[in-house]
Amino acid sequence: MPSGRFPAKKRALPVVPDLLTAAADRIADGTFSTLWDQIRRVNGCAHPIRLAGTIDQADTATGEIRRTFDSAALPDGTILVPCGNRRATVCPSCSYLYAGDAWQIVHAGLAGGLEIPDTIAQHPGLFVTVTAPSFGPVHSRRANHGPAQVCRPYPGRCPHGRPRGCHLVHPDDDPRIGAPICLDCYDLAGLVVWNRHAARLWKRTIDLTYRRLAFLTDRTERKTRRQVRISYIKVAEMQARGAVHFHAVLRLDDATTHRGYWAPPPAWATAELLAACWRWAVRRAEQPCPDPHRYTLPTRLVPTPTPRPPMLAARWGDQADTRPLTVDGGDLTPATVGNYLAKYVTKSVTTSGALDSRIRTPDDLTTRLLLLPDHHAELVRASWRLALRADFADLGMDRWAHQFGFNGHWITKSRTYSTTFAACRERRRTWARTHTRTGEERTPLDAWGRPEDDDQVITLAAWRYQASGYARTGDRMLADMAADQARSRREATRTGRQTA
Ligand SMILES: [Zn+2]
Ligand SMILES: [Zn+2]
Ligand SMILES: [Zn+2]
Repeated sequence: MPSGRFPAKKRALPVVPDLLTAAADRIADGTFSTLWDQIRRVNGCAHPIRLAGTIDQADTATGEIRRTFDSAALPDGTILVPCGNRRATVCPSCSYLYAGDAWQIVHAGLAGGLEIPDTIAQHPGLFVTVTAPSFGPVHSRRANHGPAQVCRPYPGRCPHGRPRGCHLVHPDDDPRIGAPICLDCYDLAGLVVWNRHAARLWKRTIDLTYRRLAFLTDRTERKTRRQVRISYIKVAEMQARGAVHFHAVLRLDDATTHRGYWAPPPAWATAELLAACWRWAVRRAEQPCPDPHRYTLPTRLVPTPTPRPPMLAARWGDQADTRPLTVDGGDLTPATVGNYLAKYVTKSVTTSGALDSRIRTPDDLTTRLLLLPDHHAELVRASWRLALRADFADLGMDRWAHQFGFNGHWITKSRTYSTTFAACRERRRTWARTHTRTGEERTPLDAWGRPEDDDQVITLAAWRYQASGYARTGDRMLADMAADQARSRREATRTGRQTA
């Protein structure tokens, strides 16, 4: 279990002469200080959206209209709006905020806070991990709290004449980790089809858990669901081998729980019971799927010589983990679970960012494949090839090729788990309106200099999209610097909050 805050990517500050050049045009044309203010307001977002527009206020008593904002007065006539992307490869700054929101959401569902009562901490909770089964041997670094061991000490050769084993001890950051020992032996099609069904498999596992709860407590399933609710938040992580796995918090609530009202489950619904039912369900859950092994997909030059047995359903692998969560004591606290889950939500499918968006055309596919490690490229190809088969037509395997078949969301929560991302953003906006940059409270004023009051004025905003990204290369460099500053400030605050 990693400890401490989720990692913040430290980037070098631009060296001073670069920074001076970056700022020089802006200083020369007098737009530097307004632009710098804006860049700081969006925390140095890497790809802000640029909007042009105005804000007017109308006095409801007199009908007088005054303009309170006009982007024409700003550099390039636009205002910067943060991109809000969750991926660190796209925007380090927005992804940092996103991870912070994810942390708040996870944490509040376990310890209370925001709109959730502290009593939530007494609800039984579990931290669970479920993974995909094996689709063939891959390079790995095996180190169970000791020195790392040899990757795969097996003798002999595979039908393609390649060694079955690997006698290296891979360093931590070895790009070979996760790559198949033999790409032609590896079940690429099985893996992408498994990914495609993983989200449904999750749903089935939750349903089976309810069924088991009912069976063990001698109730009907309907009656069980009328008494308890399994609320959850889950984060999907793409492993180096290209299989998705899920980390999640499961919590038992009373079935009448809804947002704004959280009640503990009946006394019979304990964490131990939930853990037993969940483990039972994980071993048995299956999601039927069309058989990817009906087709021999040519992987590169050598065809697979031995036909694989049919794969008719997606099931979980053996590497499952279920641990009880305790609010006081124990190593699994709401804060560590929050760190753990928040860390994953900013990850990309592949570190280069080459799979950060959907692949739309065969030309696009060709370009992206060039940027990917071999086994990632083969997984993308396997998805595209399956998409051409009639029994896979409805699954949109080509649309999800950039996620190796996975079509779920990277973070999902049941409706009653906790607060929402929208609520987190709204809280941030309100804070920004009612506080100065140094954190002192201030009262927002209307166009007449009175404290803002919705009954007294009506605010009308009109925005037009202009462009995305920065207008000048130098601006982007300034943004990088602002992003670093913002990150240091937030890290200081977060550390303070966690040790408090
Ligand atoms: Zn951004
Ligand atoms: Zn190896
Ligand atoms: Zn082979």
